[in-house]
Amino acid sequence: MVGYKSKLVEQIRLPSRAQRERALEEAGYNVFNLPSDDVFVDLLTDSGTGAMSDEQWAALIRGDESYAGSRSFEELESAVEEVMGFERVVPAHQGRGAENVLYGTLVSEGDVVPNNTHFDTTRAHIANQGAEPVDCPVDDATDPDAEGPFKGNFSIERARAVVDEYGAERVPVVVQTITNNSTAGQPVSVENTRRVREFADEIGATFVIDACRFAENAYFVTQREAEFSDVSVAAVAREQLPLADALVMSGKKDALSNAGGFVATDDERLYERCKQRAILYEGFPTYGGMAGRDVAAMAVGLREAVDEAYVADRVEQIQELASMLESVGVPMYTPAGGHAVYLDAGALFSHLDPEQFPGQALVCELYREGGVRGVELGRFAFPGTDRPELVRLAVPRRMYHREHLEHVAETAAAVLERREEVSGLEIVSEPEMEEIRHFTATLEPITS
Ligand SMILES: *Cc1c(COP(=O)(O)O)cnc(C)c1O
Repeated sequence: MVGYKSKLVEQIRLPSRAQRERALEEAGYNVFNLPSDDVFVDLLTDSGTGAMSDEQWAALIRGDESYAGSRSFEELESAVEEVMGFERVVPAHQGRGAENVLYGTLVSEGDVVPNNTHFDTTRAHIANQGAEPVDCPVDDATDPDAEGPFKGNFSIERARAVVDEYGAERVPVVVQTITNNSTAGQPVSVENTRRVREFADEIGATFVIDACRFAENAYFVTQREAEFSDVSVAAVAREQLPLADALVMSGKKDALSNAGGFVATDDERLYERCKQRAILYEGFPTYGGMAGRDVAAMAVGLREAVDEAYVADRVEQIQELASMLESVGVPMYTPAGGHAVYLDAGALFSHLDPEQFPGQALVCELYREGGVRGVELGRFAFPGTDRPELVRLAVPRRMYHREHLEHVAETAAAVLERREEVSGLEIVSEPEMEEIRHFTATLEPITS
């Protein structure tokens, strides 16, 4: 059992309905363009939005800002080694910086990279290298009603088909994302990670784990994988992560920080190559684009993430939100993920064509109704795919309380009440790079 008492508070307010209406229009019906002061409960992302602990704030003060040889970096190295089992660490300003360092080193033009499901920045980085990202989720991953314990797993069968089609020499890297963010935050079993290890060995590929939510994943493993029912979250992480050759990590997720990321590996050659690229794009390899104080806070956060009581409370809060939403009849992806609840906008707005972005329409309605900000992860965010029209409500770590979650459930219930009145959206302007259009594109309601 764990709880929190407040040491610092920040006031939030719900703008009037007219203000929300105006804000939405000014944002081009894209909630990424909303000022945060106009948002009441912000479930846009769990990335870098959590509350740091008093221990992390204390670490900030003690942070070492030395350009080279920073003590804070040594603290990070020892935390990574202890918690994740890797000795070599290349810090970066955030997860995508680490992705650039690692995939820029490992992936070349014409390569094909299988992943259980590529997260959007991962997909964009692989594409940016001139390579092709291929998703290899298990069969029931995209079925919002299937009840599997590990719907985030990597399908070896699909990855093998990719290798058969392109040849092993074009598949230098295999990635497993835990938990599987783009498949509704579903967990990956340790058994599946072992099989990916064997598969990577078989085809001579480097095995990368995207470890952004490794602690939440480890908690699910202790709950759902029989072999680990009596094992601690920390021990599961130490079993699962070292199966990979390298990790790519965003400190803004399970390192409980507001900034940062890193690559970790035990491969000396890969480490040296990553360091060179990091100097080019991130900074000297003992700070990697972060302030020393942020490195120090991230080191503390990594250890806190595998605290049994913390992570149980964290994952159970998401399950609490899911059951509140379920009790008011909102369709959603089941089971709930580790960091977010994913609403099924396709089922909720069955009167809308997928081309009319029902997911984005739901995002707009949640804001209009209750100042709640979520994010679309359907066809707007992932053009050209036929993934389910999901809306993610990601819960920041250690930030909101039950009353906030209740407000979200009431808001969703009110939208559900008037679902028939909701119209679809069309894109007015979009950036050149389609893979990341949902961050900046603007839309408008379809009026006819
Ligand atoms: C957030 C995330 C990233 C990128 O990390 P940033 O810190 O946002 O740049 C990569 N992979 C996954 C699975 C993520 O969730």
